[in-house]
Amino acid sequence: MHLDQNPNLYDAAVIAILDAYSSFSYKPQHSQWTILASFFLTRRRSTPSVGVEGGEDEIKVISLATGTKCLPTNRFSPRGETVHDCHAEVLARRSALRWFLEEILRICSSDGVGSFCSAWIALGKDGKYAPRKGVHLNLYVSTLPCGDASMGYLASTQDETMAAMKSSSVFPELESTAASRGRDDYARLGVLRTKPGRADSPPTSCMSCSDKIAKWNVLGIQGALGSNFLSPLYIEAVIIGEVPMNLRTIARDDCERAFWRRLGEFQVQRPIIHFTDLPFPHSRSVLGSSTSCNESLCWSADSQPLEILINGLKRGVSPKHRYREKSSDSSTYFQAKLASSDYQIAKQKLLKEPGPFAGWIVSESHWQQFDINGEVQS
Ligand SMILES: [Zn+2]
Repeated sequence: MHLDQNPNLYDAAVIAILDAYSSFSYKPQHSQWTILASFFLTRRRSTPSVGVEGGEDEIKVISLATGTKCLPTNRFSPRGETVHDCHAEVLARRSALRWFLEEILRICSSDGVGSFCSAWIALGKDGKYAPRKGVHLNLYVSTLPCGDASMGYLASTQDETMAAMKSSSVFPELESTAASRGRDDYARLGVLRTKPGRADSPPTSCMSCSDKIAKWNVLGIQGALGSNFLSPLYIEAVIIGEVPMNLRTIARDDCERAFWRRLGEFQVQRPIIHFTDLPFPHSRSVLGSSTSCNESLCWSADSQPLEILINGLKRGVSPKHRYREKSSDSSTYFQAKLASSDYQIAKQKLLKEPGPFAGWIVSESHWQQFDINGEVQS
């Protein structure tokens, strides 16, 4: 189950993702690098051996996002109109959730007419939608996710000055469940970390992508709001780019520890880890650029055109419109999020003592957080 059974399928998916990305006219400015993430669905047919094109297997790219930034805590807005965490994985998950919810709307709005039948999801006996038999949800990231999954890679690739600054000797010992800041104390493995930033940047309370992926492996990616309509959606495989062959053994061990092993008895889903040789053209290693892009692209399939976010805000929306847009249905949204009780109970167990993620930093406004589209924040 956890062997890399179908590498050609995953590489075919990466080709489809890179094709979709290059079909947009969007490019990061000034040759700045970024990270690309995408959620995609696969449907395996009877034969496990497939050609490079995926043979009879099917692939559907449902979301794409780029991004490397998150807001420092001192720039969180009490009005909740900003997206705090603009890392590619987090935005791709948000756009994937939008696709699932819109697919449900397409199904529901065609009831009685019979014109739309989803090839990917169906209503289960529990009254919630779930992937059809044989359909799997997968995540592609163009580089190792930040946080625990990238610690071994970081230790192998950073220069001596940085290694001395970030080594264990200069940091006080923390409680076992406490979160480390960014890349500090990188020899501390299997722990929660906030997102990395420049050493001189104000701290952020956004948790790393490794931590969020691990959380999705317990709770699913559907979030509190989505769990009203969707059974838990788990990631079958994580496909990762930019890891050189000689570091893949270390990186695989890091990913398995970061994504599920450290969860102990909380383990639910253990995704397959697959490394791809296919390069993302706007990655740091391809461009050789030292600065990362502060814009983010978000796209979900079968939906609106792509959106660009800058510093957590949608480009081209006036402040006046932004506040009006979000404030209209805030109570409905908040109530819907709280109503999903099973999800909330599971989340409390994971994030509260003695759960493995008890050090998870929850910002004060977290429970009332919703982004510019009134969607769930992870
Ligand atoms: Zn990240």
